[in-house]
Amino acid sequence: MTIQDTPTTRHLTLIIPVYNEADGLRRHLDEIFCQLEALPAFVSTDLLIVDDGSTDTTPGIVQALCAQRSDIALLVLNRNFGKEAAIMAGLDHTDADAVVVMDSDLQHPPVLLPKMVELWSSGVDVVEAVKISRNTRSGLYRYFANTFYRLFDALTGLGLHNHSDYKLLDRKVIEAYRSLPERTRFFRGLVNWMHFPAAQIPFEEPAREAGESKWGALRLLKLSWQSISSFTALPLQLVTLLGGVTFLISLLLGAKALYDKLSGQALDGFTTVILLLLIIGSVLMFSLGLLGSYVARIYDEIKARPHYLIDPGKSRLPATRKAK
Ligand code: UDP
Ligand code: MG
Repeated sequence: MTIQDTPTTRHLTLIIPVYNEADGLRRHLDEIFCQLEALPAFVSTDLLIVDDGSTDTTPGIVQALCAQRSDIALLVLNRNFGKEAAIMAGLDHTDADAVVVMDSDLQHPPVLLPKMVELWSSGVDVVEAVKISRNTRSGLYRYFANTFYRLFDALTGLGLHNHSDYKLLDRKVIEAYRSLPERTRFFRGLVNWMHFPAAQIPFEEPAREAGESKWGALRLLKLSWQSISSFTALPLQLVTLLGGVTFLISLLLGAKALYDKLSGQALDGFTTVILLLLIIGSVLMFSLGLLGSYVARIYDEIKARPHYLIDPGKSRLPATRKAK
């Protein structure tokens, strides 16, 4: 039986992580509310804004909105824990039948919401909005994103090219996601990994409406490596391969060195020695660094600190959903 056949109302929460989005936030939320009116009558909705430690007036703007409307709630994190943690906080604080995770800057077009709900009602557990292109981003950003996804797909076999965090998740998917014990999370990767029945909606990503992207080059680089290393240990095996290759080279050079020695021309090997030292030294350093970053990941996981901390004084949640 599909959801449409059931007479009961289904509840949908829109989880929107925000970080320093005071510019344009009110207008963006108005636009989102506008699109919610196009949803079928059997779906009731509310918005859960997760403030990820904004240092501008973002929480104040949302608090004012909460005072005006009962279908908007606010969860304020103690500091900037990152978008992944903000999404987790949102998922932990809703009892809706499904959620849609979306950005606040309208780069995740709210006009897709009715189609997402339609697919969910037909029994699909995950509805993913997939970017057709990243034409609104700079050439360098596009190059970096393409390289990352190519590498990620090759190493993990997950196929995330052009995926986004704009997703509808059914309650069973939310519960499965929350039950995953790991701290380092890559939302779009993990949802794909769980492999619930999914449908995709392609969309052209519009340019940011106001404010600017929160991801600098370094932050993106760190996030990319975290995402890859939390999904695969293959780079560690590549170290073994690298060891094999240097061993082969050393066999060849060893044979040549022996030949030179036996034929009495052993002196002119100085350049080779320097090159070998440099190559082996850098391979060793690189391998140690790689090992170190996986050890750091284990260290982080073992500490098992919470994903986020909530400021209950600034949060505005319905009485039925107290901050956890
Ligand atoms: N965001 C967040 N915490 C962060 C960075 C971003 O909650 O540490 C939010 C941000 O406010 C926005 C969404 O995540 O609603 C996407 O961020 P952004 O638009 O900067 O990312 P981009 O679209 O450039 O990938
Ligand atoms: Mg954006």
